[in-house]
Amino acid sequence: MFSQICIIGSGPAGSVLAVSLAEKGHEVLVIEAGSSAPDFTLEAVTDRISVSGETDIKFGFSRQIGGATNLWAGRIAPLETCDFEKGWPVSRDEMELYYTQASEILGIKDVGNFSEDEPCSGAFSGLKSVTLKPFLWAKSPFNAGQYLTLATQKYKNLQILTNRRAAKINRDNKKIISIELIDTCEKHQGVPRETVSADLFILAAGGIETPRILLNSDLGGSAVGRYFSTHPKADMAVLKLNKRTSTQDPLFTDMPLGAGTQRKGLGFPETIQKEHDLLNHYVQLSPLVEFKATRLFEKVKGSSLFKSKFIDSSSLMKGLLPAIGLIVFEAISKLAGLQRKTTIFMLRGFLDQYPNHENQLTLSDKKDSFGLPLINIDWTFTEKDKASVIRFFDLLDKSLKQNNIGHIEYSEMRNMQDWPLIGIHSHFMGTTRMGNDPQTSVTDKNAKLHEVENLYISGPSLFSTYGYANPVYTIVALALRLADHISEKLGQKP
Ligand SMILES: Cc1cc2nc3c(=O)[nH]c(=O)nc-3n(C[C@H](O)[C@H](O)[C@H](O)COP(=O)(O)OP(=O)(O)OC[C@H]3O[C@@H](n4cnc5c(N)ncnc54)[C@H](O)[C@@H]3O)c2cc1C
Repeated sequence: MFSQICIIGSGPAGSVLAVSLAEKGHEVLVIEAGSSAPDFTLEAVTDRISVSGETDIKFGFSRQIGGATNLWAGRIAPLETCDFEKGWPVSRDEMELYYTQASEILGIKDVGNFSEDEPCSGAFSGLKSVTLKPFLWAKSPFNAGQYLTLATQKYKNLQILTNRRAAKINRDNKKIISIELIDTCEKHQGVPRETVSADLFILAAGGIETPRILLNSDLGGSAVGRYFSTHPKADMAVLKLNKRTSTQDPLFTDMPLGAGTQRKGLGFPETIQKEHDLLNHYVQLSPLVEFKATRLFEKVKGSSLFKSKFIDSSSLMKGLLPAIGLIVFEAISKLAGLQRKTTIFMLRGFLDQYPNHENQLTLSDKKDSFGLPLINIDWTFTEKDKASVIRFFDLLDKSLKQNNIGHIEYSEMRNMQDWPLIGIHSHFMGTTRMGNDPQTSVTDKNAKLHEVENLYISGPSLFSTYGYANPVYTIVALALRLADHISEKLGQKP
């Protein structure tokens, strides 16, 4: 099998790249391990998982055309200037054009805009050192599978081959020659591996499978699998305002905006982050109604994802209606247009982390049913990471008190040895990071592997730093940037 360009994986990183290259006239073949049918009950990817905090990794995979956009929540925000300045070989300015194009593809062009320094308003007016950080949603979240499948009907030069798992990459010196594929259809199990050849290959198999393929092929250098992070999160503190405040504000609940939805959180601008040696953390504020509804969701899902040991919620919950009642109340009050007011909010931290060489994926001795080595994960939220979070809450608390707005209760995090963060669930970043130094990165600034001429990466494994923003916006922007680079390299086709 031969194609000019071969892309492994059809999540947003692979699909957007494939469609953009097909639009530019190139011949593109996408190899996808799944099919159009949902497959969340995957055969094991991981063996040993050693993490600080809790993990819910099964939550993060979807082996299906479209990858994890079959599961995702659709929350969109860009990485900020300060994130790019901490080690990316690409600047935020260079990304602007691609974020604009990504807004169109992801359906948020008519929802609203992002600003890095939106001043506080409403209940937080006067809080000068703090900025509002928006997330936007499209009415129906982008599905990479539908996007790709529709494009195959339009472009004859774009093909998808499903139920094929990329297993191993074959190279001849500085050139990749072919990739070995395993047929994942049960009825075909045991058939010999096929190979696909191409002028140029791109791995877009997600932040865990992409390094797995490289490690299994002994490619990528010493940084493959390292600098892993996942946007750890948890309900971490309680905010008490001095005045009762309406919850009908994008800071406290999801609110309609343009053709979609917005939600804001609190964080610090770049100048303050530098002054206080802070990472780019972010907190989302939830009134008790929403907090309780989330607990209900947790019960229903049987997931540990939303548990918080930082907060003794029992005293807060006393006297409140049972969760189901609250949801009914929420629905009724929305219908009646009633305004609820409160002074107490949960603070959910979306945490940044220092890139750490020791947070890494390695190959296990154990193999999956196709004979491919499983992945071991070692991930820690270090004392240095924790100290940055505590400084964040110290500064937020101080600003709230100085401005007579309220205060935060967050003493638990100082006393706790093991922070009960949700460490690994769906944002798998940093495992084939971009950079200029082959000792600390796997690809160059164009996402090409340092050591070969014709193998590229698309996806969150490229992220050199993490920030707080969910990754898909940046994944799509990087995929569009890569399409421009590849097209230029291969020459425009008529
Ligand atoms: C429940 C959930 C909610 C989320 N919510 C948000 C959100 O609100 N906002 C946001 O920005 N992000 C969110 N994310 C994260 C986001 O979905 C992922 O970061 C994103 O999908 C990653 O894109 P990707 O293309 O790199 O990988 P994936 O989407 O994981 O796609 C990889 C594809 O490659 C295929 N593949 C894997 N290995 C191989 C192989 N060896 N050979 C061939 N094919 C292979 C897989 O089957 C899959 O289809 C969420 C994720 C989950 C799970």
